[in-house]
Amino acid sequence: MGFKNVTVAGGGVLGSQIAYQVSFKGFNVTVYDINNVAIEAAKGRMERWQERYKQDLNATDTEVKDAFKRMNFSTDLKEAVADADLVIEAVPEKKEIKIDFYKKLSEVAPEKTVFASNSSTMLPSQFAETTKRSNKFLMLHFANEIWKNNTAEIMKHEGTDMKVFDSVVEFAKNIGMVALPIYKEQPGYILNSLLVPLLDAAQNLLVNGIADAETIDKTWMVATSAPRGPFAILDVVGIRTPYNLSVAKAEAGDKNAEKVAKYLKEEYLDKGKLGTESGEGFYKYPNPSYESPDFLK
Ligand code: NAD
Repeated sequence: MGFKNVTVAGGGVLGSQIAYQVSFKGFNVTVYDINNVAIEAAKGRMERWQERYKQDLNATDTEVKDAFKRMNFSTDLKEAVADADLVIEAVPEKKEIKIDFYKKLSEVAPEKTVFASNSSTMLPSQFAETTKRSNKFLMLHFANEIWKNNTAEIMKHEGTDMKVFDSVVEFAKNIGMVALPIYKEQPGYILNSLLVPLLDAAQNLLVNGIADAETIDKTWMVATSAPRGPFAILDVVGIRTPYNLSVAKAEAGDKNAEKVAKYLKEEYLDKGKLGTESGEGFYKYPNPSYESPDFLK
């Protein structure tokens, strides 16, 4: 089951990156979005990705322009998927929007088309029935800045056909990803199953006054030879994300998360310290102290 024609649904932050990467690797790509404003925004994002491919991957001007020129854009779902071998869904992370999208998609996609969702937090079984082809449906989850953070977590649900699963694993390799097969449903896939508990533990140590952020990072870095500790990672993720997660947990009654949310808001967000994107979070950028050779002493 080789894929040639790929449709990416949603040309937002991740959809525009996925579409661009797939086209860069030589596949036929169509980007579907809801209206022309969204399509123009997707094209604008892709202009930025072209610069990043040149900077980060030493891609040539011709290579990056050709990848863009090869792509088609459409606001008509039926037309966008008419000959699609694979649809990668990157519509907003809202259950109702995704359900509505899969309902419409299932009515217009050809029988051959495999559906893959890039959702970060949802499980394939939430949508399997709605797709009306649960055997050809699975998750294909990418990381932000896909061209350099090139992981692809491929996660099946109980009903996914193994041949479909294997062909998506193969496809992920063909578009330059490190393919990470996941054989059972798992909230947070592999990465967030590991990372979220680490980051939560670090934040709890900090807000409970056990140790400061630098000491916590230093502990992790010296003891495991990791290049970054949890607070340096939080700066890269951006402090809004752990804040939103803590608010959600606090609303569900988690007292520690309530403390963390208050702390992140007062000490960081309200002061404009958003992480690397604003030049300051737990560390100051460029040249954060954890990169100095003395930090680990
Ligand atoms: P985004 O808000 O940047 O983009 C969503 C896009 O979908 C927009 O272009 C919007 O116009 C379009 N859209 C809205 N309704 C639609 C519909 N009915 N049909 C088609 N397109 C529609 O969102 P994003 O950050 O790119 O996230 C998209 C998906 O990717 C989510 O499931 C998210 O969990 C996942 N994801 C995001 C990241 C990230 O770092 N942003 C990382 C990994 C996975």
